[in-house]
Amino acid sequence: MIRLWLVALAVIMATAPASAADRLNVVASFSILGDFVRNVGGDSVNVTTLVGPNGDAHVYVPTPADAKKMADAKLIFVNGLGFEGWLSRLVKSAGAKASVVTTTSGIAPLKLGSQADPHAWQSVANAKVYVANIRDALAAAAPADAEIFKSNANAYLAELDALEREVREAVAKIPEGRRKVISTHDAFGYFSAAYGIEFVAPLGVSTESEASARDIAKIITQIRAAKIPAVFLENITDPRLMGRISAETGARVGGTLYSDSLTGEKGDSPTYIAMVRHNIKALTSALSP
Ligand SMILES: [Zn+2]
Repeated sequence: MIRLWLVALAVIMATAPASAADRLNVVASFSILGDFVRNVGGDSVNVTTLVGPNGDAHVYVPTPADAKKMADAKLIFVNGLGFEGWLSRLVKSAGAKASVVTTTSGIAPLKLGSQADPHAWQSVANAKVYVANIRDALAAAAPADAEIFKSNANAYLAELDALEREVREAVAKIPEGRRKVISTHDAFGYFSAAYGIEFVAPLGVSTESEASARDIAKIITQIRAAKIPAVFLENITDPRLMGRISAETGARVGGTLYSDSLTGEKGDSPTYIAMVRHNIKALTSALSP
């Protein structure tokens, strides 16, 4: 009787998902990467994200808690291309023995000024490269689960293929001459190169502080000269200034575009796929005739 029970127990243990204790501990530097790693790692991996939802990884200041998170990680997934300037010091100070995996490896970087543009994830084709790099690194770190990572990655890559088609179909519906917006975001270079929506920086306007009435006059001139149908200007929070742009140019004022971070669970972009869908919806509704 006891033996039978043991056999039954062994069967249960063999088929049950890995308990929290045998999961591979990994760290992702920011929320979008954390989402990719979760999709590939599934139940076999514990993912800790350093820069959480709505955080800014460009200017992040690591905390002592981050050093702790790194101490027992096997792998640390980073974007690279100069995105996480604070990371190598953190790895050193944490005494982390984890391997650092650069997930943009294999992507041809665009330039942002004189440096590499780190925002490679804004092209869905590039997101697939991140996912393949994550799959390979996880498989190398936990070979017993390699098949699980491969099948998780395949399922997610298929979703990304569908997303890529969705984005292309949405852009194709916008008349060619209307595929341009004025934006203070410099994070959409890869998106722009992949899908053909031009992001025009506002001329002579500071993106650091709230725009002034004089800034608005310059933007209005620019919109008229270049016949730009929509503006996404997040440093203009004064509704009267926004109203003036619309009234004087007929340009539409778009909503929020998410670039470097996901929102929390209750926000409108809690995952990468939701973020891309949100952005494409905001762009197409601002640019459609
Ligand atoms: Zn950025």
